[in-house]
Amino acid sequence: MSASGLSTPTLARFKRVLRERRALDAEEASTLAASMGDVLSARADGQADDEHDPEGPTLSFEWSRLDAVQREAAADLHAVDAALSRLADGTFGVCARCGRPIGIDRLNARPTAELCIDCARLISG
Ligand SMILES: [Zn+2]
Repeated sequence: MSASGLSTPTLARFKRVLRERRALDAEEASTLAASMGDVLSARADGQADDEHDPEGPTLSFEWSRLDAVQREAAADLHAVDAALSRLADGTFGVCARCGRPIGIDRLNARPTAELCIDCARLISG
């Protein structure tokens, strides 16, 4: 029995879920990179002047939106990688703060969780 109390098949299931999520994140990241490249070249083509070019503000807005989505995707990728490395070293499902099992319900809802619900509440509250 591991410290997390999770069975080997359960751990294998999380590994599969996290790997699929990683693949999706990576795909999203490359789609985003392409969209951001489009915005950049649209800006360069139009020599966009945000003051006068009607397309300017739209492109700026689109850029901020893509940038925010990209940051989110990068953060998620990071969280997924961290969870996968915890799976590899046997600490997956163990609270990083108190060392108690995180609990299967929380892990099912949030496989990247590093903290048990009590510690997460303490930290966010
Ligand atoms: Zn805890």
